[in-house]
Amino acid sequence: MTLTNHYLTGVGVAVVTNNPIITLPAALISHYVLDSLPHYGFKDWESRNQKIFKAMLFIDIVVFGLLLRYLLINSVPGWFYLAGLVGYLPDLAWIYRWIITEKFGTIRPQKMNFMNNFHASIQKHERLWGIIPEVVYGAGMFVFISGSIK
Ligand SMILES: [Zn+2]
Repeated sequence: MTLTNHYLTGVGVAVVTNNPIITLPAALISHYVLDSLPHYGFKDWESRNQKIFKAMLFIDIVVFGLLLRYLLINSVPGWFYLAGLVGYLPDLAWIYRWIITEKFGTIRPQKMNFMNNFHASIQKHERLWGIIPEVVYGAGMFVFISGSIK
């Protein structure tokens, strides 16, 4: 799932609970729930070097930047940003693996640890067409958050 949607969900959990003690673990759990649903992504290692993967990653980072700007303009509480980060947190392991272990995708992935195996195994519905439900979900979550923080 995209950075933007994981982050939006963490912030959405913060909006709903308005309690950091409940929000942070719930945001972490939300990551795994979302990854188990149909979403955008590529299953195989070779596809991650395709132009479309890199283009989608670039778009995701730009949209995420716009989201952060929106949250800053609307002065949400500081811990909402932490909730968004926790919502994305498990995917930092993929970034670490891609940069450090796979040398920016030039080395085939090696054996994964228990957590990464679990994380990969729940993403059975990761497909290119998953961008469609992701756009719908992200738009809905953004509308919910923007309507709740004003
Ligand atoms: Zn994930």
